[in-house]
Formats: sequence, C-alpha cells, structure tokens
Amino acid sequence: MLKKISRMPVYIGMGSNIGNREENLRTACKRIIAIQGIQMMRCSRFYETVPIGGPLQPMFLNAVLGIKTVISPHKLLEQFQGIEILMGRTRTVKWGPRTIDIDILIYGDKIVDDDRLKIPHSLMHTRLFVLEPFVEIAPNVVHPGLQKTILHLYRELQTSLSVTA
Ligand code: AMP
Repeated sequence: MLKKISRMPVYIGMGSNIGNREENLRTACKRIIAIQGIQMMRCSRFYETVPIGGPLQPMFLNAVLGIKTVISPHKLLEQFQGIEILMGRTRTVKWGPRTIDIDILIYGDKIVDDDRLKIPHSLMHTRLFVLEPFVEIAPNVVHPGLQKTILHLYRELQTSLSVTA
C-alpha cells in the first residue's frame, strides 16, 4: 500500500530593507509558492519595522507566509537559500541590510536542531517583527519548543516591553 505523505503546515518569516522592499517580498512569496510541493495558505500584511542588531541601516518590511508542504525542512532551507541568492542577496555583514531574508519559523510540530538548521527559529519568540505578522495569520499555532501559542508569545513580548512608569 502506498504511504500517504502528509503535508505539514510551515510558517516562513520574510524581510527586506534594500531596493523596492514591497516588490521583493511579493517576488519571494511568488517564488516560494511556485515551488512544486508547496501550497500557499496565507500571507500576512507587510509590516514596517526598525532593524534590530547589525549596523545602522534602512527600515525593514516584514511578513509571515503560511504554506503546506511535503518538502523536508533541509530541502526547504536549500530552496529558500536559492531564492535569496537569485534575488541578489549577499552575506557580508551579520544582521546587515538585505534584499531578502527568508527564515523557516515553524515546521508543524517538528523540532530540528543541527548545525545548519534550528526549527523553531531560535530567535522568533524574541522578535516583534516576526510575532506581529505571525499573530495576524495564525494566532493559535503552538510553538513546539515553548508549548505556547503565537498569540501567547506575542502578548508576553508586548508586556515585557510596556512602559511601567
Ligand atoms: P540569516 O543570515 O539570518 O539568513 O541566517 C542564515 C543562516 O542561518 C543559514 O546559514 C542557515 O543555515 C541558518 N539557519 C538556522 N536555522 C534557520 C532557520 N530556521 N531558517 C533559516 N535559516 C536558518
């Protein structure tokens, strides 16, 4: 009997702060959903955000894309790195400006932790520029490491940032 390959819900973070940022996000999104074995679920709106870390650089546009796929996490990473290169991304400065950055945030309930890939993305729960678009499209998704929903993580981070005096 043929084993049915299950499609996993995967959430992808995208960011751009060089060139036409909106067009870069749209192009990345189109290229991702054109990959065989990927179906699009939902894309968030685009959020303008302040760069965190790295050198002084322009504001980012960030979005989160939800897909379903049968492609393995490492193969997805290879595909996304191919899109980053095609779109002219060069890795010069850590956390520096980039045409496009594509990160795998969550891959179903899978945990991956090796030299090349960490899923859930190791910093996602500390970044409002990830959680804000993520909460817009999938507030009830559970972070498999922390066992908290995206909405919970978003509220926790907001609370930790609120002014108290
Ligand atoms: P960045 O410069 O932020 O795009 O980081 C890219 C590097 O992070 C690559 O060398 C990847 O192998 C690694 N990496 C680890 N975990 C992830 C992930 N969840 N999504 C994308 N890249 C990842």
